[in-house]
Amino acid sequence: MKKPRIASMGLEDYRCLLLAKKADLLRNAAAGRTELAAGGRLSPDDEAPVQHDRYISIEVKRLDHEILGRIDAALARLANGDFGICAECGNPISPKRLQALPWADCCIRCQERAAADPQAATA
Ligand SMILES: [Zn+2]
Repeated sequence: MKKPRIASMGLEDYRCLLLAKKADLLRNAAAGRTELAAGGRLSPDDEAPVQHDRYISIEVKRLDHEILGRIDAALARLANGDFGICAECGNPISPKRLQALPWADCCIRCQERAAADPQAATA
């Protein structure tokens, strides 16, 4: 029996996607420290170069952090039954959009409207 791919995405599938992405981000966040620890030569005297590396990656970490927050919010919506509903207009978010961005909290139309005119989106 052949199942249509999009229709076969259930809430549990989105939960898996979100958890996998979250694990990915957390692994990336920990990667720098892990690599240094694997080198086995990290002592308090070596802290300065570590700080420098951290400084360079702050911008990336900030973006990861933002997505982590969105993932947690999406997991909360899954738990209370609001997942897949646009926070702006209350219409269902398209499965295609949810597959690409499972943490999306508004539909593509509201997203585009917000980008075009931030004032109109909240009205
Ligand atoms: Zn909407």
